[in-house]
Amino acid sequence: MSIKRVLVANRGEVAVRVLRACQELGIEAVAVYSTADETSGHVALAERAVCIGPPHAAESYLDIPSLIAAATTTGCDAVHPGWGFLAENSEFARACEDNDLSFIGPRPETIDLMGDKVSARIAMTKADVSGVPGSAGQVDLAQANEQAREVGFPVLLKASAGGGGKGMRLVEDADGLAAAFETASAEAQAAFGNDALYVEKALTNARHVEVQVLCDGVGGVLIVGERECSIQRRHQKLIEEAPSPAVSDALRRDMTETAERACRAIGYQGAGTLEFLVADGDFYFIEMNTRLQVEHPVTELVAGFDLVQAQIAIAGGASISDVRSEPLRARGHAIEVRINAEDPANDFMPAPGLITRFVPPLGPGVRVDTHIYEGYSVPPYYDSLLAKIIVWAEDRPRATARAIRALRELRIEGVPTTAGLAIDILNHPSFREGEYTTTWLEDVVSELPALAQS
Ligand code: ADP
Repeated sequence: MSIKRVLVANRGEVAVRVLRACQELGIEAVAVYSTADETSGHVALAERAVCIGPPHAAESYLDIPSLIAAATTTGCDAVHPGWGFLAENSEFARACEDNDLSFIGPRPETIDLMGDKVSARIAMTKADVSGVPGSAGQVDLAQANEQAREVGFPVLLKASAGGGGKGMRLVEDADGLAAAFETASAEAQAAFGNDALYVEKALTNARHVEVQVLCDGVGGVLIVGERECSIQRRHQKLIEEAPSPAVSDALRRDMTETAERACRAIGYQGAGTLEFLVADGDFYFIEMNTRLQVEHPVTELVAGFDLVQAQIAIAGGASISDVRSEPLRARGHAIEVRINAEDPANDFMPAPGLITRFVPPLGPGVRVDTHIYEGYSVPPYYDSLLAKIIVWAEDRPRATARAIRALRELRIEGVPTTAGLAIDILNHPSFREGEYTTTWLEDVVSELPALAQS
């Protein structure tokens, strides 16, 4: 039942990524676009593209009937959801199945199980995968108080349905708990229609390290490698690298074993990511993303392995041994820099507008994933990711030098971007030494030259 035609149910950079994988596999692909995206690079790249509605995502990229209709009327037999939008929506996965379309992702039940952070936490505890110390499940205010006292402040209140840092509040002491509980649950209710919260100890010196997995659903589990994603602002990743400078060989073996056990316990199928916090030599599960991730290219570059092609093969019935006959061996070092249309001088306000000049970096070891081009107008309706500059080199110092060289070559004019800030980060002694935690960037950002000048 190998796949012949894929509907790429997404836009922008990720749609471009999936289209490229289809083209290399010799599979036909159909793009979709809203009326605001007629000129997006992903539409130009596709042999065929279908307009699915007006600019607002709720009426286009999140509209399940429109997407299913686009797939069935164009004769697709599979749907790739990309990331964001409907990528972790089990209703969409079910609608695909009901219409004889292979959903390129895990089974709907798995999306539900891991999409709810409380049920994920419980499933992982059962599989002997430790989460950050905290409540076993959902809490009310009194239970939150009790848990917080037990694990010790500071704690994080987190939304069970959370994502993108929404419904998450850091609470320093008991006095702040009630107000934080109220705002976090209101925010969660507004964003996800679900106000359930749970409590975790806030780890103050932690690193975000995640493990890429790929499973065939019939017993084949491939642990593809880890990524370091601690360079964050407001819980949003800005620069990622692989391997993680904080992971020793022993820790890597331990994380690999744990990830494999987690995948087997839930009968996982497809590509996914287990996110962990690493602190004081230990690691704690925080969540699983049941989809491809923005930062997947760093893993692809060190593993020499195309994750999107593998996702498509597995959805078409291939086993892990079909997609990878020899063991994976990580080689060299990769760094990804996200270039966002945001103004660092203006509190990182999203800055849509016309790209008057675009010169991507070229040369050895540089990969650019993007949907933009010179003359493209960034619409105001979607996220601000313009491009990802991903570099590979033999080792971390060379990869860092290459990333800086590539960013200096990059020219984007017309909208402000985060590229200058990224150069400052890569040049910083803490980055050079690989010594940084999830709060590091927030602590130093105002002193970095790109911001200090403004
Ligand atoms: P979301 O799904 O909203 O992105 P996550 O649970 O993935 O939320 O957490 C996002 C980021 O928040 C992490 O990468 C980390 O920087 C921080 N974080 C999450 N949980 C904790 C914790 N218990 N202690 C400290 N930082 C945390």
